[in-house]
Amino acid sequence: MIWSRAVSFVNARVVADAGVADSVRFSSRVLAIGDRPRGGDTVVDLNGAVVLPGLVNAHDHLELNHYGRIKFRDRYENASEWSQDLAPRLAGDKAIARARAHPLIERLFIGALKNLLAGVTMVAHHNPFYPELRRTIPIRVLRRYGWAHSFYLERRPSGAYGEPGGDVAGRWRATPPGLPFFVHLAEGVDVEARSELPRLEALGCVGPNTAIVHGIAIDGGEWARVASRGAGLVWCPASNAFLFGQTAAVRQALDGGARMTIALATDSRLTGSRDLLDELRVARDGACVTPDELLRMVTSDAAALLRQPRAGRTVVGAPADLVVIPPLAPTPAASLVASERKDVGLVMIDGRPLVGDHAFASVFKARRVTPRAVTVDAAPKLMDSALVRRIAGCPIAEPGVAIA
Ligand SMILES: [Zn+2]
Repeated sequence: MIWSRAVSFVNARVVADAGVADSVRFSSRVLAIGDRPRGGDTVVDLNGAVVLPGLVNAHDHLELNHYGRIKFRDRYENASEWSQDLAPRLAGDKAIARARAHPLIERLFIGALKNLLAGVTMVAHHNPFYPELRRTIPIRVLRRYGWAHSFYLERRPSGAYGEPGGDVAGRWRATPPGLPFFVHLAEGVDVEARSELPRLEALGCVGPNTAIVHGIAIDGGEWARVASRGAGLVWCPASNAFLFGQTAAVRQALDGGARMTIALATDSRLTGSRDLLDELRVARDGACVTPDELLRMVTSDAAALLRQPRAGRTVVGAPADLVVIPPLAPTPAASLVASERKDVGLVMIDGRPLVGDHAFASVFKARRVTPRAVTVDAAPKLMDSALVRRIAGCPIAEPGVAIA
């Protein structure tokens, strides 16, 4: 749907394919970049704020974000040990069982809300695409993908209804080459974890659509081999540090010859960071990566890994999935890495504002979205009133979000 009234952001720093522009004009789609507003536009002066494409979170388990962080040992050697520690507690631990008893759609909603508040407009959910994901989920969830949980959960339950993690080779072969295939691999630091890349290679499952999630036990030399096959990495440093005290050799993966596609992602809050913005700072502090590399890992490169050519970039004709952040640092990328969710100025999907600062009230009005006042980590915000009703009706509270 195209609205009659376009919105123009001026005096902005718009990160677009062709470079940084000072304005963007949009309805449900991006209409122009760097052009002057036209008569009848709703014009908003951004005072130097940064406009980015909506962020892309390449790995989450949307139903697992309301338990808090859980582990039963200080350090693990392999994710299979963590999984084995958790399995008997799903029914046996009262707090875990109570959190698990909420309807799946409510659990998924909290996972989607976590992402939205951090400027994420598209997420890759790792588990079955539950029918519930078609309803009342405020962000885009990748629909067409192949997945298996991991080698260690091939025949054991991984999904919300006890669905098995799936045969890795069989699932890979069943995934059309044009769709991404995600699998947790080499998630650990022991011999078993180190054996998983050679095992996946022997099965013939490392190809251009293979997205290796974690890859902690893959060493520098092996990354060149992965890159030469066109496969990519989904990097979740906060989860890796929490369970294993170390993360993937990302610098070697980036420098290993063929250019590797690497996406930064949160994983779920069971082990990961609160949200993708917090994850960016963990990534910056734990590895030699630049803000510009990190920006690509949550926009264009993440979208490339997901095979979503219209996501993760601001280009004329693409959906106006846009995020505004304050100019907290000299460059847009450094401003992103400095931003927390309370700083996020505006999040829009299809040019429709969902949550943002009061300064963007005219955008809500132009889009005929009725806003309501909320606070996010004590920062006053406006939010689509339909979304506020959804939050108010959800039996699970998102910490830090209050309806005014
Ligand atoms: Zn995961």
